[in-house]
Amino acid sequence: MRTPPRSADLLSAFPELAAHARTATRLHPRPAPVRALDSHVGGPLRWPSDEPWPMCAHQVMVYEEVPLPLDLVTRMRQAEARRVQHHILAEGEVELHEEIAAFVGPGFSGWGTTNNGPVVGRRTVDAPHPTPTPLIAVAQLRAADIPDLPRPDGADLLQILWCPFDHADTNWGPALALRWRREADVTEPFLAPPTGDVGEDEYVPEPCRLYPEQVVDYPFCQELPADLQDRLKADERYLYSAIAPGWKVGGYASWHVTDLQATPCPQCAAPTNLLFVIDSKEYDSATREYWQPLDDPDPDDAQEPTGVIVGRYSALRIFACLTCPGTPIVTDLQ
Ligand SMILES: [Zn+2]
Ligand SMILES: [Zn+2]
Repeated sequence: MRTPPRSADLLSAFPELAAHARTATRLHPRPAPVRALDSHVGGPLRWPSDEPWPMCAHQVMVYEEVPLPLDLVTRMRQAEARRVQHHILAEGEVELHEEIAAFVGPGFSGWGTTNNGPVVGRRTVDAPHPTPTPLIAVAQLRAADIPDLPRPDGADLLQILWCPFDHADTNWGPALALRWRREADVTEPFLAPPTGDVGEDEYVPEPCRLYPEQVVDYPFCQELPADLQDRLKADERYLYSAIAPGWKVGGYASWHVTDLQATPCPQCAAPTNLLFVIDSKEYDSATREYWQPLDDPDPDDAQEPTGVIVGRYSALRIFACLTCPGTPIVTDLQ
């Protein structure tokens, strides 16, 4: 697929930009059947048959019910019966509510009955998934298809998985896991993933084939030298055309929500580089002019092809340190 050519005017007006150009690969995912051997979004992975499928080890918000002592329920009912008006609490009710909250403990959210069952207190707690929860495939990327895939030495295959729930310990988002492999090390038959629960449907990608396209990204304005920033601020074209939106590999990240933030490696503290972007949309009304492909075979599915929505129609950006062992990542959502 082909992105419209960038305006030559912009580059001739700001020739200094050339020194800051960086290649990004737009993936242009489109719904289609996919195979474990291919690069794709969602779908089956090239997974070793002797390697266990990863299960989520993060904390989620779990709803719990706590049976209330009969004595407490009885006193609460007696107090409610003393109300003169339905909606005005009787004397002592506030104290009883506080007693129930104290009994139920941290995360208290109320009490009540379900289907005329016993009166229970309700609370939410951060706890491991109540049942083992397998991760699901987000994307598989072959260096053979994406030559600029930033990758640690020796690896030529990246698999991105996540747990399709909101988690207490990952800023209320899905919990990511990356696997770097060498294709030659993983031969058929591949392991079929187990099925499990899904917390958020919008974290389950529609299987999509990819139409990788290399484009040139320019930095978010605040990453540029001050004098260039000042001159570019007045140019709306730069705002919308500098950084490719949508699912992509490499390039630059936009920081339009928070302003520029550092993304140091959690192990060595050196700056990380943008590895991958999971975006809720491929372009919007402001960026369509610059980023809608010219030759889209399926323009109706083009704007939100994967069905994945992160945050509030945001983009989840994965930054990686390729020199530290284990290739640590940092994520940011905006
Ligand atoms: Zn999870
Ligand atoms: Zn590092």
